[in-house]
Amino acid sequence: MTLQLHNTLTRQVEPFVPLHAGRASLYTCGPTIYNYAHIGNFRTFLFEDLLRRWLEASGYEVFHIMNLTDVDDRTIAAAVAKGVSLRQHVDPFGQAFEEDRDWLRIRAAHAQPRATEYIGPMIELIEGLLARGVAYQGEDGSVYFAIARFPAYGRLSRLDRRELRVAASERVSADEYAKEDARDFVLWKAAKPEDEAVGAAWDAPFGRGRPGWHIECSAMALELVRRKWGVDVLDVHAGAVDLIFPHHEDEIAQSCAYTGKEEFARVWVHGEFLDLEGTKMSKRYGNILTARDLREQGVDPGAIRHLLFNTHYRQKLDWSDTALAAAGEGSARLGAFRDRLTVAAADGDDPESVAAADRFRQAFATALDDDLNAPEALAALHVLVREANRLMDQGTRVGPAMRVAWELADGVLAVAPSARARTVSADDLAVAEEDGIPVRPPEVSPLDPADVEAWAMRWAAVRATEKRSRNFVEADRIRDLLKSAGWEIRDRRDGAIEVMRRAASAH
Ligand SMILES: [Zn+2]
Repeated sequence: MTLQLHNTLTRQVEPFVPLHAGRASLYTCGPTIYNYAHIGNFRTFLFEDLLRRWLEASGYEVFHIMNLTDVDDRTIAAAVAKGVSLRQHVDPFGQAFEEDRDWLRIRAAHAQPRATEYIGPMIELIEGLLARGVAYQGEDGSVYFAIARFPAYGRLSRLDRRELRVAASERVSADEYAKEDARDFVLWKAAKPEDEAVGAAWDAPFGRGRPGWHIECSAMALELVRRKWGVDVLDVHAGAVDLIFPHHEDEIAQSCAYTGKEEFARVWVHGEFLDLEGTKMSKRYGNILTARDLREQGVDPGAIRHLLFNTHYRQKLDWSDTALAAAGEGSARLGAFRDRLTVAAADGDDPESVAAADRFRQAFATALDDDLNAPEALAALHVLVREANRLMDQGTRVGPAMRVAWELADGVLAVAPSARARTVSADDLAVAEEDGIPVRPPEVSPLDPADVEAWAMRWAAVRATEKRSRNFVEADRIRDLLKSAGWEIRDRRDGAIEVMRRAASAH
């Protein structure tokens, strides 16, 4: 079984066949950093993260590019409204995006180009389009793409061709426009006083101005994939469904007219929207939920990933408090299992453990290979956890085979709760003594996961006492004992101790 993906170009689920076997370039349209990205935006970035992680887990060498749109209609309007430079306005939002991305365990792209750093390649691309006669300069000084000169225009979004011919004599200069406005679109906008005021204008052979939004992605994608692998076709291009038209349609037109290739990306994948309690999330309705709102509410990123992956990326998802609470419970169950496995895993597996791990691996791969069916992959993981818990309850040996299965699931989905650090203050460290020797907990950690944390805390307290008595050898032995049971200890300057469960694997 190999990976199958739904290709918007053909409206079919088809085998993924990259340009070169074993390697996949992935371009994902990044955030426009005029404001904080909301959880609907992050739903898109998370399904793309899942795609990337699954490609990597399947053995592909992935080259992931995600741009940051730092110049367009919206960023300029926001800078003008605030009376600051474009740079001053977007930089904090670019930084906030990276914080939110990391918090949500989204792997950082290998290349994260900002549009303003690629003005050169954009100008070069536009010059090429002018030279090929598919672009022209309007009397307003801006440069437009002539869609009538590109016969394949409308293929991705399946526009009605008759409708197109009627409209083709007109032009649109806004970055975002509706399907009814399929007409010549802007590549380069002649500089206006407000662009100059915020520092959003550059010199070009066809006049001073700034790029249109669509040309940005074409230029950055072509430049980076050419630099990396010497090709001018992407393997996968992804985004949310609202980007199909006009953004991706225009990206295809510009790129293919420039390269002369039939395709810009072999596969186009698009993720559906997210509703908030039944209503489309939008500034207009005032129901925007950002990643930082959730972080301030103390929501665990594992729960958010669990919630979002529980609906297939091509289906609408309704975000609600009920769904979040259920996802939190699911995530916590997985976390308890991770902790139990960390503490109690045996050196070897009995055959039942190996069989359960094998069944899981097969179900997991089948689900994700089937157009990233994350809900089924999650279901397979919960089945595994139930089976493994039952085996451990029975005293069956569960060991490395199960650990490898867990690490696969955790590495791809990353839906378990964050490992939390517990702080023991100096006051909490009093330990009962008998004949001047601290009373010790058992050397072996308890089987019941609910008792494990208290056990580790007691040992941490004993170790602190030993350190105070300058019994450093014993203190080190206790540190190693805890470490082999999956616990990390950090001594803080104020005398408190941080006790933290190590995550089963790094994200
Ligand atoms: Zn884009």
